[in-house]
Amino acid sequence: MTVLLQTVTKSELRHATRTPIFSSTAHWGVDDCQPTRCSHKGANNVQTTLKTDVTFEGVGLHSGISTRMTLRAAEADHGVWFKRLDVAGSDQMVPALYDAVDPQPLRTRIVNAAGVEVMTIEHIMAALAGCGVHNVLVEIDGPEVPIMDGASAEFVRGILAAGLGYLDAALYAVEVLRPVSVAQGEARATLAPASALEIDFEIEFDDAAIGAQSKRLNMANGTFVRELSDSRTFCRKSDIDMMHANGMALGGTYDNAVVVDGDAVLSPGGLRHADEAVRHKMLDALGDLSLAGAPILGRYHGVKAGHALTNQLLRALFADERNYRIVRCSPEQQSRLPGVGVKPADLALVA
Ligand SMILES: [Zn+2]
Repeated sequence: MTVLLQTVTKSELRHATRTPIFSSTAHWGVDDCQPTRCSHKGANNVQTTLKTDVTFEGVGLHSGISTRMTLRAAEADHGVWFKRLDVAGSDQMVPALYDAVDPQPLRTRIVNAAGVEVMTIEHIMAALAGCGVHNVLVEIDGPEVPIMDGASAEFVRGILAAGLGYLDAALYAVEVLRPVSVAQGEARATLAPASALEIDFEIEFDDAAIGAQSKRLNMANGTFVRELSDSRTFCRKSDIDMMHANGMALGGTYDNAVVVDGDAVLSPGGLRHADEAVRHKMLDALGDLSLAGAPILGRYHGVKAGHALTNQLLRALFADERNYRIVRCSPEQQSRLPGVGVKPADLALVA
């Protein structure tokens, strides 16, 4: 893999990524600022990064390995990249892009061309997307993102405390042009045209503590922070032995995951929301969708969907250029993106 510096340029990014999303220059500019649908005027300070570094430490949910992770400011068009500080040489950089995902159950794992991985990235990715952070370098000294309390709220708290810096560069979004669906067994995931990112999710579990839940939210205006960021990952007690036998959930505790057994919630303190489980699935979906490499203007509908299916959906979306187009966001479009208008007070409303 090409040696990547922190100041990597957009064209270097295109070459470094295995199958770059924005690899075709034909996508760029085609739909820029059409006068009939866009009020954009000249350069805008619309891309963001962090004002200061922020560090998180903790155990990884699946590996049980403790890591230290620092989010650092990055230049415009950098996107989100992970840098494995414990890996020597030129193979440290792993792109947070859908085509770097190695689909696996129960987590999102990205791998670079040299086989260097970062796993369980979905909750930090959701926090970045939900707070509207477009460019950041995520340094980490091990293979797995800390699970913290099983949700995104601690990441959101750190990001909001660091503050957002605005970059003198226009922001691009992926506009969904026609419905795209993927399915596996009873699970289904769809992206359809919409003027803002909406997430609509349905789940159904035999355990009465979860049961059937559904929820639909527009992600604009700090919705993610207020409604989803504190909802924790969950599992059934009966699944824990299976996961341990497969080398997963080794860092799991009743404090960083909601564990249910039939109609009982075993984690101390119970649930943060009656429908915490479906809220967490929506959190996961936002994190996984952010691997498109740019905000999505469209409606996601997941039915019993997991990380691998959402990744398959992005691959299906980008497999056919009739499904989408890249648009330079007008101020009006940008006002509807996740993260715009988020205030620290929004976080005070949750855990
Ligand atoms: Zn999750």
